[in-house]
Amino acid sequence: MKRQRPIDVEDYVPLIGEEAAERIREKAKPLQGAQVVHINSTYYGGGVSVLLSSLTLLMASLGIRTEWRIVHGPPDFFSVTKKMHNALQGGKIRMTDLKVDIYEQFVYENAIRNVLDHDFVIIHDPQPLPMVECYRHTGPWVWRCHVDLSRPDPGLWAYLRQYVEQYDAAIMSIPEYAQHLEIPQLFFMPAIDPFSITNRELSEAEVEERLRRYEIPTDLPIITQVSRFDRWKDPEGVIRAYRLAREEVDCRLVLLGNVATDDPEGPEVYESLLHYAREDDRIVLLTQEDTALVNALQRKADVVLQKSIREGFGLTVAEAMWKGKAVIGGNTGGIRYQIEDGENGFLVSSVEQAAVRIVALLRDPELRDEMGRRARETVRERFLMTRLLEQYLDLFGSFEVQYNIRRSPELEGLIVRPERRRAPQPAAGSD
Ligand code: UDP
Repeated sequence: MKRQRPIDVEDYVPLIGEEAAERIREKAKPLQGAQVVHINSTYYGGGVSVLLSSLTLLMASLGIRTEWRIVHGPPDFFSVTKKMHNALQGGKIRMTDLKVDIYEQFVYENAIRNVLDHDFVIIHDPQPLPMVECYRHTGPWVWRCHVDLSRPDPGLWAYLRQYVEQYDAAIMSIPEYAQHLEIPQLFFMPAIDPFSITNRELSEAEVEERLRRYEIPTDLPIITQVSRFDRWKDPEGVIRAYRLAREEVDCRLVLLGNVATDDPEGPEVYESLLHYAREDDRIVLLTQEDTALVNALQRKADVVLQKSIREGFGLTVAEAMWKGKAVIGGNTGGIRYQIEDGENGFLVSSVEQAAVRIVALLRDPELRDEMGRRARETVRERFLMTRLLEQYLDLFGSFEVQYNIRRSPELEGLIVRPERRRAPQPAAGSD
């Protein structure tokens, strides 16, 4: 078995070219030895954890000492922060004293447990946001907000803004999310790791094996949406669009979703959909923690949907586009920056529009191929992890004059990769 090693910029050369790789290495040089920490609220489930698992390793591979920590909390805490998340994306919230107490208390407790004296601190999303107030700063603090901030609940935003203004800069995904803030605002779109289990190349046999394992029939064309079970992802709308499309073209719908540890609403949304699958055996509803299945399903699908009503960015869109799929995406947020309507996929604003596009794509394999080819090229040019990495390097570099970065010893030599151990092989004839 081949030894696993973390991906580094060198691996991207065939995709981005030597010149871009060299530029990135050069930008990283002055930052070698600097200590960076990213903090968010979950190691698993949702796009932020997917992003950080690749980005932190890639940063570390350039000699930047990069940590990833999460804030811990009981269900009470995540219930409040999920309500805040919903209200930031256009819902409503009443920030009662109780909610404020729970939020601030647990953030403060996390601050006590985390010594933060890094050169750069990157705080992701609202869950750890107030940590900024709990430390004497030894370098710039940056708030990276991944949610759709185009219409935040005004009361909630007025409350959170008191923390946001204490950062040195804020990063949003797209310019539409800009707020009235005294601090600089930057716009970094997320990106995908083409070498992850979710995105790496799979043979046809591997794809078939994965689908067989979950008993997903492949006798009919497959349309799919892969998403956390979340109302903003509009799984009901997907089911309704599939039903309309099925009146014209026979097909099967596979909805695959996982539940993030910081999202308490997932199980309820999943259960609310179960009756659809009971009523129609062509609807396959799966909740599995299996990124290889995400990969296989996106590759096997004839049509991929991401029919979100709100979407900060929507990594699943870029992931499917990377696999050469024309994605039908909700005309909202970050999806609009990935899909160019009619060129590399379709943008839709209603169930009916989604159904029309499903039928068009199912009936026309050449259209699927042509759009899919353009979709993959869009991702290669604009949505690979190296682009995002370079934006962070530029940001860190821009702070250099302001802060005196302490050059701690480089990662090289500090972390030793252990020898691969092998499990004893069972004696011949034993189970
Ligand atoms: N994902 C997964 N399994 C699932 C559903 C989603 O691994 O069953 C992954 C998906 O491939 C993507 C991430 O979770 O990498 C979701 O990110 P996105 O930005 O689309 O949405 P978010 O959940 O952050 O709102």
